[in-house]
Amino acid sequence: MIEHPRFTGATLDRAAELRDDRHQLERLLADPRARFVGASADAVLVTAAPGGEAMLLRRPLDGHVNPHQPILLGLEEGRPLFAADVSDTEAAQHLAATGAGQLVTLRDAGMMLGRAEGGLAAYLVALLNWHRHHRFCANCGAATRISDAGLARRCPTCRSSHFPRTDPVVIMLISDGERVLLGRREGWEPGRFSILAGFVSPGETPEEAVVREVCEEAGIVAHSPRYLASQPWPFPSSLMLGYEAQALPGEPVAQVGEMAEVRWFTLQEVRDGQGGGGTLRLPGEVSIARALIDAWVARGGTLL
Ligand SMILES: [Zn+2]
Repeated sequence: MIEHPRFTGATLDRAAELRDDRHQLERLLADPRARFVGASADAVLVTAAPGGEAMLLRRPLDGHVNPHQPILLGLEEGRPLFAADVSDTEAAQHLAATGAGQLVTLRDAGMMLGRAEGGLAAYLVALLNWHRHHRFCANCGAATRISDAGLARRCPTCRSSHFPRTDPVVIMLISDGERVLLGRREGWEPGRFSILAGFVSPGETPEEAVVREVCEEAGIVAHSPRYLASQPWPFPSSLMLGYEAQALPGEPVAQVGEMAEVRWFTLQEVRDGQGGGGTLRLPGEVSIARALIDAWVARGGTLL
């Protein structure tokens, strides 16, 4: 099985019952134990814990959190934890200059952080990305305001509410019984391959999306998709749904505009790629793509 993909396992209480209560929110903002964690579009502020393990930097609010439109992530054992966007502020530079923390890309942080911290980092970046890209009302175009302590935006003009979106993406390991189907996207360097993936369309189940995407990207007929695991992927707002499926016999053909190359790879070729030998360059270990590939290799090239 696929155990604990990176960016999963956040443990904090998201405090739904406190979010529409202004007095409760003011109490949390004034709590001397309140802290913020900071992120830019694709990086998080990280520091070393006393034991040496990397963790998100937690700092007193000190003007980094707007008290009128705060983004509350939740409660950590009762302690309020807020989010701050540090992408274009001096805060990140100052914190880095004082040795308190450093901005690390989310992909790197996913490998450095422990499980719960990695999940928290994904939540932080996904939520800030949503606010950054949804400042105006999709209904009437007016500027919106943060509400529900950061888990919604409200339009003062047409009074509609907007909630954080997560885009479902299917990602699937396809096998013909012996080999695995990998593709190289347009723009990727030669040798870099991954399993196929694509957005779930409106009016479609993830299983239907698996079959459709494999056909569209490789001209291969897949059947009987089986769900294995999921992973938040806030680049900027996806949820990866990991599947495996059998393919009917056939030679893959890259479809114009989607993939530069698609082909079958043997178990030995993928093993060589894992070890850094050969010419195949597999996706990074932070991704569920790699977890699905590694699990297939560990099972000797068979599906579950
Ligand atoms: Zn509006």
